[in-house]
Amino acid sequence: MAFSFRLQATSGRARAGRLETPHGSVETPIFMPVGTAGAVKGLTPRDLTEVGAQIVLANTYHLLLRPGDALVAELGGLHGFTGWQGPFLTDSGGYQVFSLSSLRRLTEEGAFFRSHLDGAAHTLSPERSMEVQMNLGADIAMAMDECPPYPAPHSAVEAATARTTRWARRSQAAQRRSDQALFGIVQGGVFLDLRERSARELVELGFPGYAVGGLSVGEPKQDLHRVLDHLDPILPPDKPRYLMGVGTPQDLLEGVARGVDMFDCVLPTRNARNGQLFTRRGKISIRNARYRTDPQPPDPDCSCYTCRTVSRAYLRHLHLAREITAATLMTLHNLAYYLDTLRLVRQSILLGRFEEFRGEMLRSLAVSAAEGL
Ligand SMILES: [Zn+2]
Repeated sequence: MAFSFRLQATSGRARAGRLETPHGSVETPIFMPVGTAGAVKGLTPRDLTEVGAQIVLANTYHLLLRPGDALVAELGGLHGFTGWQGPFLTDSGGYQVFSLSSLRRLTEEGAFFRSHLDGAAHTLSPERSMEVQMNLGADIAMAMDECPPYPAPHSAVEAATARTTRWARRSQAAQRRSDQALFGIVQGGVFLDLRERSARELVELGFPGYAVGGLSVGEPKQDLHRVLDHLDPILPPDKPRYLMGVGTPQDLLEGVARGVDMFDCVLPTRNARNGQLFTRRGKISIRNARYRTDPQPPDPDCSCYTCRTVSRAYLRHLHLAREITAATLMTLHNLAYYLDTLRLVRQSILLGRFEEFRGEMLRSLAVSAAEGL
């Protein structure tokens, strides 16, 4: 089945839609758990289903280094290899090359780098990234982009943005799989003129979806919001928009309010492993001594497996004892919280009352933060 997107309702600029992919449909706005090396750390595919995940992100950089994309292809692509039968999205690998590897050289051809695992030399070009992503077989692939550092001068960001368009064209030309949708990535840093140019050039090339990259890299929140505000009327309304690597529950609400449909972030999963839980009453750190004898579930308003089954006291004990079950239980809860939040956001959009929902939720998160729970 081909890839398609249907916009179902809007409330203000917030959008509710439905993505169809070869491995099932995705109701947007959606949060995509990050399965770096082909697994969301601590969880099984059964857990992902239980928690309500609809689409999972896997990292091209990690998988191309280990176990290698050819092996994954031989074993049936990510779906055959991992057992997760729902939709997958893979990134291009470029971002991790810039952030994790020892980057040797960046040219128009691509990135020449050494693996952070064994120092082996690799090349990642737009063509190689597409080859790897076609081997991995995700439902959605991303065009390789150049993400400039923050802060960077206008001229440097302009050059990276122009290259991103050239690489997007090369990625399109290298695409061979008709069962895989390729998204372009808008770059341009915090400069609205460059963001606009990048978006217009990509729209001209024509992609089934558009991502906004290079944000949440240290810039002030107002810049993130300004960029999204500016891009909203430029990006085609009938195509999904994906804000990469963002963010907190508040960021998700602010993104949806500015027309974003898809999000991913390591925050709920990474924080869970560090003992931090997101709840409807704000964040809690399970290490805190106040939870030593606390019989309450992590989030009394949550119906996830973890909150139905265990207490804060037990989670605190498991976490301090470094039991791996602690990571599993807390990851389950944090993902349930993110996914439930966006499910409620979606309902509020379908009912035409997103602004009220957003206001109520932001107020309750702010009150909780002030109260320290
Ligand atoms: Zn829960």
